[in-house]
Amino acid sequence: MTSDTPPVGATHGTRGDGGPQLTPPPVGEPAFDSHHPPSAELASDCVHCGFCLPSCPTYLLWGEEMDSPRGRIYLMQSGLEGEPLSDSMVQHFDACLGCMACVTSCPSGVQYDKLIEATRAQVERRHRRAASDRLLRAMIFALFPYPRRLRLLRPLLRVYQRSGLQRSVQRTGVLQRFAPSLAAMEALAPPIRGEERLPSFVPAQGERRAVVAMLIGCVQGAFFPGVNAATARVLSAEGCDVVIPPGQCCCGALSVHNGREAEAVRFAKSTVDAFEAAGVSYVVVNAAGCGSAMKEYAELLADDPAYASRAAAFAAMVRDVSEILVELGPVAPRHRLPIVAAYHDACHLAHAQGVRSQPRQLLAGIPGLDVREIADPEICCGSAGIYNVLNPEPARELGDRKAAAVLATGADVLVTANPGCLMQVAASVERLAGSVALAHTVEVLDASIRGVHLSTASHKGG
Ligand code: SF4
Ligand code: SF4
Repeated sequence: MTSDTPPVGATHGTRGDGGPQLTPPPVGEPAFDSHHPPSAELASDCVHCGFCLPSCPTYLLWGEEMDSPRGRIYLMQSGLEGEPLSDSMVQHFDACLGCMACVTSCPSGVQYDKLIEATRAQVERRHRRAASDRLLRAMIFALFPYPRRLRLLRPLLRVYQRSGLQRSVQRTGVLQRFAPSLAAMEALAPPIRGEERLPSFVPAQGERRAVVAMLIGCVQGAFFPGVNAATARVLSAEGCDVVIPPGQCCCGALSVHNGREAEAVRFAKSTVDAFEAAGVSYVVVNAAGCGSAMKEYAELLADDPAYASRAAAFAAMVRDVSEILVELGPVAPRHRLPIVAAYHDACHLAHAQGVRSQPRQLLAGIPGLDVREIADPEICCGSAGIYNVLNPEPARELGDRKAAAVLATGADVLVTANPGCLMQVAASVERLAGSVALAHTVEVLDASIRGVHLSTASHKGG
């Protein structure tokens, strides 16, 4: 159903694989070159008021000005004024989770999202990382954006998890001591269950109200097939013909959020090609990070005359699954689901897409469901794409804070809209020896519409 062939093509100043340049700029050169540097105009919108600081997770952890949005904007401005890209500057940029909590808390409307995205692309092209960091990133980007490669891991992981080997490895703490990033990946891997393969078309039940195409996603498709199956069932029950375009590949979210611009451009073009052919009115996404990247294709492909207007038209069709369901309004009857749920705002849904009310509205429409809010909802859980693998320590601390706040609600189930958040919070709940099931919003809706028990995406701690 999905394609693992890396899209071809090259873009300004990068290697063919989208990774950093082989030769960094000469020592003492200004931090940024002329290919899409962070905008001086956008940076100058910051009035240094500091209102964003309390919502910034890295400022919360370390209390360092240069690890706050304001400090990072100051570093970008120094780079624009000719300062070279120092290791310490890169460290502060790398430590940013890209959670965009600063964007929604800024009263001056500073577009930090655009600033950090442009900065990251410059860093990837112009800064030579340590060999171990390059190797880790190469490994991640040779695996995560390729669903078929991820699926090959499923049987291996299943054996690892069921044979008792996982428990032994975790008990020794050897991975944690010698390879913290690998230990983070190992702890994050969700329990592998049976695969639910989707057909290429799921017809609307009752009167047809919309024709939509659905993104399968890489991690979602490989590790949370139940979420995709629930999404298709709910859309169909609410009157949507659901098309699952063949040949869809990674949407490029991980690449664009990590400065791999050329790679992101190639994935975005392939995604536009695959979904245009489906001839639908909406493109439905159930992973927050993917949705936010796809809604920004117009900016990503703006330089390409063959794709610019097509990308803008495509981006206008993209909806998070909760958005389209609220836009359409409910028609399928709901059954009682007498459980307590806590709803967690995924950063790329709430801060990046402004989608907060729709999932809550959908959950509020389920009879018997008691929905509770989590303390400090604007603070990221530490997942942030691959942040928790690249920066395992701060991610772990943020995950444990979020898990403690979730457990304090007394909920039976944590509901959220992103596979990364599900894995991150599940790992922390287990570490805290807590117990809560985890589910995607559509899984809860699906259970209510079908009148069955909630079958959750991941419940390590439950
Ligand atoms: S980013 Fe916004 S909130 Fe933060 S210091 Fe600048 S103007 Fe103030
Ligand atoms: S994106 Fe998140 S981590 Fe980065 S500066 Fe903004 S609030 Fe802080």
